[in-house]
Amino acid sequence: MRLSRYFLPALKENPAEAQIASHRLMLRAGLIRQEAAGIYTWLPAGLRVLRKIEAIVRDELDRAGALELLMPTLQLADLWRESGRYEAYGPEMLRIRDRHERELLYGPTNEDMVTAIFRAHVKSYRALPINLYQVQWKFRDEQRPRFGVLRGREFLMKDAYSFDLDEAAARRSYRRMFVAYLRIFARLGIRAIPMRAETGPIGGDLSHEFLVLASSGESAVYCDRDALDLPIPGDDLDYGGDLEPIVRQWSSLYAATEDVHDIERFEREVPAERRLQTRGIEVGQVFYFGTKYSQPMKAAVTGADGAEHAIHGGSYGIGVSRLVGAIVEAGFDEAGIVWPEPVAPFRVGLINLDPADAAVAAACENLYAQLLARGVDVLHDDTGERAGVKFAHMDLLGLPWQIVIGRRGLERGIVELKRRATGERIELAPDDAAARFTMHGNE
Ligand code: ATP
Ligand code: MG
Repeated sequence: MRLSRYFLPALKENPAEAQIASHRLMLRAGLIRQEAAGIYTWLPAGLRVLRKIEAIVRDELDRAGALELLMPTLQLADLWRESGRYEAYGPEMLRIRDRHERELLYGPTNEDMVTAIFRAHVKSYRALPINLYQVQWKFRDEQRPRFGVLRGREFLMKDAYSFDLDEAAARRSYRRMFVAYLRIFARLGIRAIPMRAETGPIGGDLSHEFLVLASSGESAVYCDRDALDLPIPGDDLDYGGDLEPIVRQWSSLYAATEDVHDIERFEREVPAERRLQTRGIEVGQVFYFGTKYSQPMKAAVTGADGAEHAIHGGSYGIGVSRLVGAIVEAGFDEAGIVWPEPVAPFRVGLINLDPADAAVAAACENLYAQLLARGVDVLHDDTGERAGVKFAHMDLLGLPWQIVIGRRGLERGIVELKRRATGERIELAPDDAAARFTMHGNE
């Protein structure tokens, strides 16, 4: 992409409403624009990040055997009356009437609807297990939308729902999602720690929240420092195998949010030097809730014994749009955002230092074409701005790599390659700079 042709409406001033770094930096870099409290437009560069996160989430869930569908954002109130939680949900639910005075709502979550879908089409245990997921916008009329996309009112969530014949099978489904979450967050380039959690309005008896540690986080968390170094299952993971040892290893270390924190246990189980007391951002949650929805909604299958069994369910959310902010909170510096490579809006920023010089422009065009041919996302700053402005802008945007091409360097046959995260720079020949990037990695 050429910056001169791009739509990246960066702000010059710090936006007054932004209280935390990710909100400020996302507005300043031109990734999002607020339309109403907690409601945002995703501008082109921000949307690229959102889409990259979605793609990783989908890829891993597909590997774990989940099936993607897409349910509507609007749901009938009657469906929620059937599951018994229409009244209970409270003012966070946006209730709507259509022209026929039918009561609708903008879905804050989808257990009810997916249970109705399952109930209509699955009758036998032979079809189980089933895990259905979607990546869809949700609306919750939060009392205090704040911190930009971290606590929006309209937000993008990946929500998955598992259906099993009994509790033992449902716990296997739960473990599959637990392990998929470990891998998803690692693949996004962040560390999210599973913590024991309260089950809240969705209900149930087994739940973990996954939190990214950040001082700006809304939740106080208490955990064993060793959880920061536990291994993440590798690419060779077999989702069909026994995942219990992995889940046991993670859940044997103390990690809890303030809601369920047990100070005596914490002090008993964790040696003082390993006690970590900090804050975190919830980026995902996994629940096993048994027959909470299948009972009232009569979602049952015939078992091998010929009898009807209410299915055992779980639901599994990831805050896709919240993750964009959480990833920024986990990695920024005074100059701006520092994206992990897998989710950066572009992997490379190509800076033309002397746009009026024909030789420099030709070298930039050549490198730009080579990178594109290699399948590398690149943002080419071909504008007429001053060098200082270009550097500051590229640092603010936080692309993992910068390639700087100027007249003086070219006279010596070199360009400069800078790694945003460390500031480390090397000089190399233009063709060698291109050759360092391949579709999937750097050499
Ligand atoms: P919170 O405690 O932060 O309000 P929650 O526990 O109510 O979240 P869940 O029902 O578990 O949220 O939703 C699944 C995921 O959706 C959460 O883990 C979070 O990442 C994301 N999420 C929930 N509420 C919001 C919101 N208002 N804005 C952005 N993301 C959200
Ligand atoms: Mg939650």
